[in-house]
Amino acid sequence: MSIKQLEKELNHLYPETVKWRRHLHEHPEPSFEEWNTRQFIAKKLKEFGYENIEVNVGGGGIVAYLRGAKYGPTIAFRADFDALRIEEETGLPFASKTPGVMHACGHDGHTATLLSVAKVLKEHEEELAGTVKFIFQHAEEVLPGGGKSMIDAGVLSDVDAVYGLHLRSPLEYGTVSYCAGYAMAAPDFFNIQIQGKGGHAAHPSSTVDAVVVASYVVNQLQSIISRKKDPNQSGVLTVSTLQAGDGAHNVIADKATIKGTVRTFDPNLRNLVEEKIKSMTEGICSAHDASCEVTYTRGYPALYNHIEETELISELFKENRKDMKVEEIPLRMGGEDFAYFLQEKPGSFFFVHSGNKDKGIVYPHHHPKFDFDERAMLVGGKCFMDIVNHYLIESTEVFEESQQAAGE
Ligand SMILES: [Zn+2]
Ligand SMILES: [Zn+2]
Repeated sequence: MSIKQLEKELNHLYPETVKWRRHLHEHPEPSFEEWNTRQFIAKKLKEFGYENIEVNVGGGGIVAYLRGAKYGPTIAFRADFDALRIEEETGLPFASKTPGVMHACGHDGHTATLLSVAKVLKEHEEELAGTVKFIFQHAEEVLPGGGKSMIDAGVLSDVDAVYGLHLRSPLEYGTVSYCAGYAMAAPDFFNIQIQGKGGHAAHPSSTVDAVVVASYVVNQLQSIISRKKDPNQSGVLTVSTLQAGDGAHNVIADKATIKGTVRTFDPNLRNLVEEKIKSMTEGICSAHDASCEVTYTRGYPALYNHIEETELISELFKENRKDMKVEEIPLRMGGEDFAYFLQEKPGSFFFVHSGNKDKGIVYPHHHPKFDFDERAMLVGGKCFMDIVNHYLIESTEVFEESQQAAGE
């Protein structure tokens, strides 16, 4: 069996892959509530001939094994399948039939892609040396995420390397991209409640003006990134909400609310920013006789793509995906719970660009008009096949050849 043969079979299956994607898109379910989606995936795997499909792994995940006839490594592929609480505005013929819920991140595409790989490979079980583990993960979009609980349930214990992909709109179709090392940020957020003392706007000395104190806090927090962070590191701190007062001209507000997000890669910087947000806010409030409550919530860890595995897939894609541009891209500030998988095992998370200006696919992820060029699923499936071909087909052929040579 060759990579060309696997590609041909994926091409042949493509209309069905599209059908699965559109079915999932029409029937989206939000994170932690993907009951029918799970049933759909398990049913498909069963139809393909998979046995002993594990369901409710770590709460709501699904795992299936493809055990090759010969001995070899265990490679895991992960696809997520949850949707978002967004009212769809695409006007697509297969748009969401569930009000207020939409596949606006492309997870329908990830799942359909991995199903297509599972179906094609099942026909070649006898020819594979090693195991492919298919991990379908629930609840990527909402903390604490499904990935961590699946790992805690042991989903990676027998795995040698793990790979995943994300479609990426509106970056134009025709490119597969990768990023070695830190690739996606740890997305944290914070809430600050400031309590001052209200009063008449003409008599500030008898009040503690929450607006003034909150203004100092907003300004000072900016200096964490500009003055405390090593300039060689990446990090973002954004105050996204500042609320105080009731709209009156003559009343001093007694309280203020500040909310924002922090994006970092380095764990030490992450600790520093959290610590500084707390200590600066408390210091400013105490200097102005106000009190405060600061809560800092940690999102997923930063996603770190292992160098060796990322170099490997970039070479495989460059060699086999001749009709695609394969390029390295800089790290991004978005978060992704595949980070947990890569904390446990070597592997890499890559991107298949899926925008298409001519088709009006120009909206970013989590937008009510988000869509992706469905051909990107075929590209993604072929990339997974490149990985299978490397670990479970080609390496063993080399091994067998060397055995033969040794015997001769
Ligand atoms: Zn998303
Ligand atoms: Zn996503």
